[in-house]
Amino acid sequence: LAPDFYQPLRDLGTHYHAKAEAEAAAEELMPLLAPPVPDATHNHDWRVPERLGVTLENVTCRYADQHSPALDKVSLTIRPGETLAVIGPSGAGKSTLLNLLMGFLPPASGALTTHDGIEVDSLAPAAWQRAIGWLGQRPTILTGTLADNLRLADADADNESLRQALREVDLIDWVDSLPQGLETLVGDRGQPVAGGQARRIALARVFLRRSPLLLLDEPTASLDRASEAHVIDALAKLKQARTLVILTHRLDLLALADRILVLEHGQVCAMGTLDELRATHPALFNSSSRFSEGKVLNRAEDTAEDKYV
Ligand code: ADP
Ligand code: MG
Repeated sequence: LAPDFYQPLRDLGTHYHAKAEAEAAAEELMPLLAPPVPDATHNHDWRVPERLGVTLENVTCRYADQHSPALDKVSLTIRPGETLAVIGPSGAGKSTLLNLLMGFLPPASGALTTHDGIEVDSLAPAAWQRAIGWLGQRPTILTGTLADNLRLADADADNESLRQALREVDLIDWVDSLPQGLETLVGDRGQPVAGGQARRIALARVFLRRSPLLLLDEPTASLDRASEAHVIDALAKLKQARTLVILTHRLDLLALADRILVLEHGQVCAMGTLDELRATHPALFNSSSRFSEGKVLNRAEDTAEDKYV
């Protein structure tokens, strides 16, 4: 493989208009990008640890065509095993933080290291990406069987592992109700999959990947209440064994977080527990807050949709 094997994906990731598509594509492609790029300068001894934290030290990130940095001298420690929620107004740099953590966007300056001091830059991209599970905003269901769709996360998973992952996300009863079960054809001409089910299939993939660091972009966006409750239950289980970074405006998800990071203009505006932030930054939690974009408290106004994908 050429050393610039990842370049098309990086180009996609930094192309503003293709961003949503790139996110969907990246989620599906990441597990397929496993073959290591042979590069003698990379540290090949690193093995994905059971628990993983990340430290940003004075990290600045810039997109080529942007004047002001998307992340501006951010210093931050994500502890191994912690659940960190990230909030902030649109354009604050939340998605950029995820792109950085995924290794798609290298820091222009500053350092990104693991909790035990290894520079992420020194690792082969494929090795780093094996350590990460990612759930994008628009999970994709490919044409194929349900089993095929789950095995995107782990090609070698046996049926019992697939069933266990489905149990974690409360989809096992649905799958067992289908005449063909795991072999049911989904996607274009197959069994219709509702938005909530698609999100949970994507979450089941995350369970199968067993990566220690999970990056979740609005995992409950546009789900109906029942699906949202299933996803929140699944996240509560996931959080016991992994480090979670969740971009969200939802109060239910903020309550799952050990700490909340508030970004604004690419900078850390506040960081603390939900109780601390309620005390120090009460304005964040009122419904007209520009941070909440009206979404934290105004749950009743949300139009819950569970569209078919
Ligand atoms: P958020 O996710 O909090 O809404 P983003 O991280 O998407 O914020 O954006 C932070 C800043 O970077 C914004 O000013 C945005 O316009 C800019 N930006 C985001 N993605 C790109 C990109 N791919 N190319 C150029 N600029 C971008
Ligand atoms: Mg975003």
